[in-house]
Amino acid sequence: MLKINGSRLWDSMMDLAKIGATLEGGVSRVAVSEEDRRGRDLLRSWASPLTEDFHFDEVGNMFFIRYGLQPEAPIILTGSHLDTQIHGGRFDGAFGVMAGLEVLKTLAEEDIRLPCGIGLVAWTNEEEARYCPAMGSAVFVGKQDPQSALDCVGLDGKVFGEELKKIGYLGKHRELNILAYLETHIEQGPVLENEKIQIGVVSGAQGQIAMDVEIFGEAGHSGTVPMRLRKDALVCAIDIINSCRSLVVEEGKGVFTVGTFKLEPNSRTTIPDKVLFGMDLRHPDTDSLQNLSNLIKQKIKEKVATHCCQERIEVLFQKEPVVFTESCVKSVQSASDKLGYNSLLMPSGAFHDACLLASKVPTGMIFVPSQKGVSHNPTEYSSPEQLEKGANVLLHALLNLAEKGALLK
Ligand SMILES: [Zn+2]
Repeated sequence: MLKINGSRLWDSMMDLAKIGATLEGGVSRVAVSEEDRRGRDLLRSWASPLTEDFHFDEVGNMFFIRYGLQPEAPIILTGSHLDTQIHGGRFDGAFGVMAGLEVLKTLAEEDIRLPCGIGLVAWTNEEEARYCPAMGSAVFVGKQDPQSALDCVGLDGKVFGEELKKIGYLGKHRELNILAYLETHIEQGPVLENEKIQIGVVSGAQGQIAMDVEIFGEAGHSGTVPMRLRKDALVCAIDIINSCRSLVVEEGKGVFTVGTFKLEPNSRTTIPDKVLFGMDLRHPDTDSLQNLSNLIKQKIKEKVATHCCQERIEVLFQKEPVVFTESCVKSVQSASDKLGYNSLLMPSGAFHDACLLASKVPTGMIFVPSQKGVSHNPTEYSSPEQLEKGANVLLHALLNLAEKGALLK
């Protein structure tokens, strides 16, 4: 059976990780920085000899295309992103690009031409570490206006378009005829490692609702106001958080986090009169997400009444769950089965470029385990064997899709 070269894949991962390498063993290669330029140039030196067509678009997304039997044949696209968090790891994003590169190397080595072309893409600015929101794949699928991306001001006050031009990757838009998109990525969570599973067959991505909740009580002296007469905003908030958490745990499939919390006046001897906290609710199913969100709002009102406080709830944003295309999910599943790897059908907990691509073309994703589920951190790790398996699944899923390419559209 055709396989990719695992040690060659690992070597490219480690060579790429030298660009922006940090003392803690991670990588700092934020979008459109000098390090990003060097990473892009390195990829270009590797991928150009394997492909007939290279271009970058108006936001710097890079495309390398190895023609199919006919140069004008539609393409199956694979890839991910090269940018990292400021204190990022070596694997997030980089793995998806290097796995695609390794597939191109394998096809070239074996002199294989498929009915369709194979495209390798490196999306610009996925991480939102410097420019927010993420923009490469969003512009590509038409969800973000290119000009607004170019005008985006980064955390350092520098303008995206100017920085992109400076590193030499401000290009032009070109229409591509894409049959499907597959992305390989580290899981960035603990599920696969915990269940001793080699491959995550990704079914889609969780939807998300972000809410700010403000609770208003009444300030008072901590020594003079009897317990029964208090309107304690903090006690009310804690009750809300605990009972909302229970709702989500009982439901079973969602995840719920309160990650920000502010207390006023924050004095040991004063009963808190104001609390502001940020809720993040995620679920892979649209109706269940909405239902949980409604239950949470109801629970907040109920608890606020019990504690004689008042509330303000603000939904900051809502992202619908993404469901990947059946033909792509099946191709990943059958590739993994054929290679004899054990796998789990799972939704992605995090958002990826693939979630945006799914709105435009048939899309699927492959996960490999992350050690201890750690990501966005220098200690992020997946072993050479785990990466090799993921890239092998990518290779066979692509071959599989290429065979039935005509059926996809
Ligand atoms: Zn990523």
